[in-house]
Amino acid sequence: ALDVDWLDAWSFEEGAARASALFEVTFGEAPAGVWSAPGRGNLIGEHTDYNGGLVLPFALPHRTYAAMRARTDGHIRLVSAQEAGVVREIALADVAPGAVDGWIAYVVGTAWALAQEGLTVGGFDVAITSCVPYGAGLSSSAALEGSVAIGLDALYGLGLGGDDAGRQRLVAACSRAENEIAGAPTGGMDQAAALRTQAGHALLLDCRSLEVRQIPFDLAAEGLALLVIDTRAEHQLVDGQYAARRTTCEVAAEVLGVGTLREVTDLSGALAMLAMPDALARLTAAGQDGQVVARRVRHVVTEIARVEEVERLLDAGRTAEVGPLLTAAHASLRDDYEVSCHELDVAVDAAIAAGALGGRMIGGGFGGSAIALVRAEDVEQVAGEVAAGFSAEGLTPPSFLVAVASAPAS
Ligand code: ADP
Ligand code: MG
Repeated sequence: ALDVDWLDAWSFEEGAARASALFEVTFGEAPAGVWSAPGRGNLIGEHTDYNGGLVLPFALPHRTYAAMRARTDGHIRLVSAQEAGVVREIALADVAPGAVDGWIAYVVGTAWALAQEGLTVGGFDVAITSCVPYGAGLSSSAALEGSVAIGLDALYGLGLGGDDAGRQRLVAACSRAENEIAGAPTGGMDQAAALRTQAGHALLLDCRSLEVRQIPFDLAAEGLALLVIDTRAEHQLVDGQYAARRTTCEVAAEVLGVGTLREVTDLSGALAMLAMPDALARLTAAGQDGQVVARRVRHVVTEIARVEEVERLLDAGRTAEVGPLLTAAHASLRDDYEVSCHELDVAVDAAIAAGALGGRMIGGGFGGSAIALVRAEDVEQVAGEVAAGFSAEGLTPPSFLVAVASAPAS
């Protein structure tokens, strides 16, 4: 059997010690505290968040740690273990859309967004370290924003971290940071997963009402495990394709006369309507291909229905039956939404061939990670066969972790 690479999570103590040590070595004093937020997996509900739909993410044990201390001069100084030895600095007052490049945008953008929401925040020093793999579709960006948001909440006494309503406001600030300062048009699921999840639960988030329901999610108790496969693939098209999918969904909603695709309750009626000559003319005028738009709409509407079905199965304690729905979601993302890639398809196909109950790509697509629902006793074997499948295709070896629904930002 092939040796497989497992991505271990740090304990809270280890993460906090690493962030504190980096802070002290960089800024010459101890931080006021260390805050952290998790990366996330998503059981089902992909590319539904920006369509007002449903998603079902959970927090990973892998977290980003931010050691922080308030400053009185309105400046922000930043260091990340990912960019060792480089200290960045910017005045909070100079943060604005278009004014900040690189990774610091996620951090200073979060402070900026809180201020935009009318909250009183000031400068700070921050040292970041993380065991969330980045760019792996496990949302290291929201883990970074979430760790800083919960840290600023404590440093500046905002009083938002203590309950879900307050955390919802932190989520809004993190989303604005990502959209408006980092310039990534993501839909809000990742930030909610970082801040509004609970250990041992998956988070059913309605992206229209922003209401949440915590669904007990203890796979081990049912003899199951969720294997996460980081394909290590990163394709250049990611950002442009994501924005293009969003635009297509917005145009489709407009032509269908609904606010968001969430409001499409009759799929065949909607598809028939999109095929009418005047709808096609409007789509063409908006630079869209009618047949492609119909497939995109079909993914979104069927995916929302799959989330509802998974919710019912989890509530009924029939988690093993979730497998085929994951596989159906993958086919929909691959064929209708066209956001998969060779590595993701190899990961899912090899996992299923090795006995997984089902699997799918997660995250935006074109690389990143896949999940596979497996019987607990099959974890090693499925991972080994996925690694062998990658090797046979001449691909970079993937990395693996076993997802256990963990704690939110704290
Ligand atoms: P994902 O969220 O799926 O990991 P993104 O492209 O959304 O991928 O976010 C990755 C980006 O977030 C990185 O390129 C970097 O700018 C920033 N980032 C995440 N974690 C860190 C970290 N620990 N230190 C510095 N930057 C980070
Ligand atoms: Mg991200």
